[in-house]
Amino acid sequence: MKLVENLYCYIWQGRGNNSNSYLFAHVLRSDRPHVLIDPGHVVNELKERCLENLLGSIQRDGLKPEDIGLIINTHSHPDHSEANQAVVERGRARTGKPKQALIALHEDEEEYRRMLGGMMARMLGRGVAFEPTFYLKEGDLNLGKEKKLNLKILHTPGHSPGSISLYWPYNKVLITGDVLFYGGVGRTDLPGGDGKLLKRSIERLSELDIEYLLPGHSTEFGSIIKGSDKVKQNFAFVRLNYFPLL
Ligand SMILES: [Zn+2]
Repeated sequence: MKLVENLYCYIWQGRGNNSNSYLFAHVLRSDRPHVLIDPGHVVNELKERCLENLLGSIQRDGLKPEDIGLIINTHSHPDHSEANQAVVERGRARTGKPKQALIALHEDEEEYRRMLGGMMARMLGRGVAFEPTFYLKEGDLNLGKEKKLNLKILHTPGHSPGSISLYWPYNKVLITGDVLFYGGVGRTDLPGGDGKLLKRSIERLSELDIEYLLPGHSTEFGSIIKGSDKVKQNFAFVRLNYFPLL
């Protein structure tokens, strides 16, 4: 679904776990001009075909999945990153172009990702195999011709050490990954989680001017939050219900 010019939202509609995905279309200078945020699972715990579903939705919006030139993960958990490599492979197979889609995540996630990858492989008998092409840091990420898309990378740890949020000032869009949801916050009980850090990260996000808040998962309250008043209400709700004593 197109949200604003150049930005498409793919909200996970299945019953099992999977992340939402977001796509910035026609922004990179390369012949693969799209940027995909969090490809999600290939197949989830209920055997739902998450990736097939996502790619179908992208195509129905008139976009080609093989034109994805950059994948950004908000963090490295498998429900956000398992499909990374499959998206890269698909682009290579369909186009025959030697240049592959790039994969990026925050530098502070790398050590954790390697540790978690090993753990997941032992627990599930399958790892999340991908190699980042480059690392992101706190600061500006300007993409495309004439810096068409000016994103701000915000390091927002707490759910995982290298969790990021992406802020697009032009349209007042914030993509939060698993830091903040509609009426909820990310888990801090997984390895690498830290409640105090998460609170600090959310307080930081609350200072931004936000019209569209796009979280990594939907909740019983809903998926994306539209309108600055609703976004402010959500920050107030979360503060009261999750961090009253901190
Ligand atoms: Zn997560």
